[in-house]
Amino acid sequence: MVKDRKYYDILGVSPTATDTELKKAYRKAALKYHPDKNPSEGERFKLISQAYEVLSDEKKRRLYDQGGEEALQEGGGGGGHNPMDIFEMFFGGGRRQRERTAKDVIHQMNVTLEQLYNGATRRLKLGRNVVCAKCNGVGGKKESVSKCKNCDGHGIEIRQMQIGPGMVQQIQRTCSTCRGEGEVIRELCQACKGNKRVKEELILEVHIEKGMKDDQKIVFHGKGDQESGLEPGNVVVVLDEQAHHDVFVRRGDNLVMEMPLTLSEALCGCTKSIETLDGRKLVFSLLPGEVIKHADIRTIHCEGMPHQRNPTEKGDLLIQFKVRFPTELSAQARMNLSKLLPGKSEAMIPDDAEEHVLAKVSEREKRWHGHDHEESGGQGVRCQTQ
Ligand SMILES: [Zn+2]
Ligand SMILES: [Zn+2]
Repeated sequence: MVKDRKYYDILGVSPTATDTELKKAYRKAALKYHPDKNPSEGERFKLISQAYEVLSDEKKRRLYDQGGEEALQEGGGGGGHNPMDIFEMFFGGGRRQRERTAKDVIHQMNVTLEQLYNGATRRLKLGRNVVCAKCNGVGGKKESVSKCKNCDGHGIEIRQMQIGPGMVQQIQRTCSTCRGEGEVIRELCQACKGNKRVKEELILEVHIEKGMKDDQKIVFHGKGDQESGLEPGNVVVVLDEQAHHDVFVRRGDNLVMEMPLTLSEALCGCTKSIETLDGRKLVFSLLPGEVIKHADIRTIHCEGMPHQRNPTEKGDLLIQFKVRFPTELSAQARMNLSKLLPGKSEAMIPDDAEEHVLAKVSEREKRWHGHDHEESGGQGVRCQTQ
């Protein structure tokens, strides 16, 4: 039991989420609410970063689970990092040249299991900021640019504020005259209105290779934002594998599927076929005499996901059988079966035995079954023993 679910709710995961689930949730939420895409959701972006910072750290997560945000503060381990730093650490793989490079454009791309199995080429349309060609990134007529007098070119102004008798506080903020640019332009460039950069549409061909994985990044070097005097940033495409497929579930390089069998097929054998993700038909037989039990697993080697490095090599295909029992049997079938099937037992009933009738279990009771005792806390089914 966790004390407070807030951080989990912000990321949209359950308190039992694994590291991988947390990462995926952060990735989605951070890209969606990044101030570049959603300028009005700054507060939310901050919360998302804070939640991830705490939950991705084993020690902080334990503190939080036990005592909520208060425990974190007492432990001195709240989410204190700059949300942008967390974001860049997560997506940039520790880019250390931030001062010399313009921003990366990060885009999450939904990919289906078929595309990851077969490989695919997708066209991607993106917006990025490029240096204005009209003014060469100056923002206006060169002669009309001068150092901002309000902040002396630093972009920051310092205000004195009286907060009590004899007490003055200094507040630093972005210069209101030059909006932090440190310079003032009298004659603005027509094309960029003094912004020095303009939005440009960029179309990229993204090659998804066979065997690529969720969270894998495809980088287009130098195709990101431009800023005058800086190296251009990159475009980073992050693959987001769509988890739901009608037949297959991916587990690393393996594919897993469920296959229903009738009881007769499970006991007496049958021939089955599977359509692969590239449209081939695989056929296999359950041999007569090979009894398949419910939840048994068999594998077809080398019919899983291709390996990215060497796509002719593949993982395995795991098939788990779901044996469907008939819902009712005719008297005739019962008689025949009990003759044919081995192992019918005769119970010895002592005289003082108490006879019971088995009742069906409700859906609610089924749910409780399997929960640990602590959580069912008296609401589950419980019988008094003498
Ligand atoms: Zn200024
Ligand atoms: Zn311009």
